Amino acid sequence: MLDVESQQRLFDRLRDLFVDRRAYSVDPAECAVYAYDNSRREAIPDAVVFPTTHEQVVALVAICREHGIALTARGRGTNTTGASVPVSGGIVASFERMTRILAIDPANRLAVVEPGVLNADLQIALKPHGFFWAPDPTSAPFCSIAGNIACNAGGPRAVKYGATRDNVLALRAINGRGEEFRCGKPTSKGATGYDLTRLLIGSEGTLAVITEATLKLTPLASDKRTLRATYADIAAATSAVARIMAQPVTPCALEFMDDEALRLARNHAGES
Ligand SMILES: Cc1cc2nc3c(=O)[nH]c(=O)nc-3n(C[C@H](O)[C@H](O)[C@H](O)COP(=O)(O)OP(=O)(O)OC[C@H]3O[C@@H](n4cnc5c(N)ncnc54)[C@H](O)[C@@H]3O)c2cc1C
Repeated sequence: MLDVESQQRLFDRLRDLFVDRRAYSVDPAECAVYAYDNSRREAIPDAVVFPTTHEQVVALVAICREHGIALTARGRGTNTTGASVPVSGGIVASFERMTRILAIDPANRLAVVEPGVLNADLQIALKPHGFFWAPDPTSAPFCSIAGNIACNAGGPRAVKYGATRDNVLALRAINGRGEEFRCGKPTSKGATGYDLTRLLIGSEGTLAVITEATLKLTPLASDKRTLRATYADIAAATSAVARIMAQPVTPCALEFMDDEALRLARNHAGES
């Protein structure tokens, strides 16, 4: 907790860094919007900022470190673990304005994105190139790539393509000392050095702030069919899954629904 004088000094520094008035707020109403995520936990930050460049984030981390104040990175607040709730107050950095797709490189099967790009927006941009990015959490239409990376998100496709950790080639990030670094390699094989990329993935914003990600792309299938199979019990279903996944050609996604899930779906959407 900062005394009033130190807090004023901090706010002055932030105002100098975020000259665009819409990129910085201490308005209690706006801070309240960034106090919670899908975990339903809540803690009000002292200020919210909306960076638009890597350099701004570098300076922001340095300011927070200098003032000994917490910095919480936020994508779109859809995680269910409280990972983007500013439990120690301080500053929330919302990445909702860093939404540029910097490159789509079909020849090297990769895309380079800013942290706030929505998962679904990326998939739409990739489709005309004949590719997709494999991580498919159900929150895809409204969650960010950096959020996916920080949560190591996956979905039904993880069974074939892995989760986020298996689909990120490289990252640009800033550690708690305000030092920027790059890790990983934009190639299928990168054998040298420690694998910091995989360490950062799933670290829920605790190790570094991500400002750029190089993502591994997968070619879209030329055709797709959906198959529903009904089993007498869970044991029969799981042993069928084990046999299916041991075949040379495997499904691109698998979803298991028990009778309770089916009942809820029917109640919600009807029989169709
Ligand atoms: C309806 C629904 C369905 C879901 N389905 C699935 C599912 O099928 N599979 C699955 O795995 N998950 C699922 N999730 C959870 C999913 O992992 C998250 O929704 C998503 O990954 C979070 O993205 P976000 O942009 O909302 O990030 P936030 O919730 O804002 O943040 C998540 C984490 O990312 C960190 N973060 C954000 N930006 C940065 C950054 N630039 N640098 C460093 N850290 C950062 C935050 O600090 C926090 O720790 C679901 C969630 C919902 C609400």
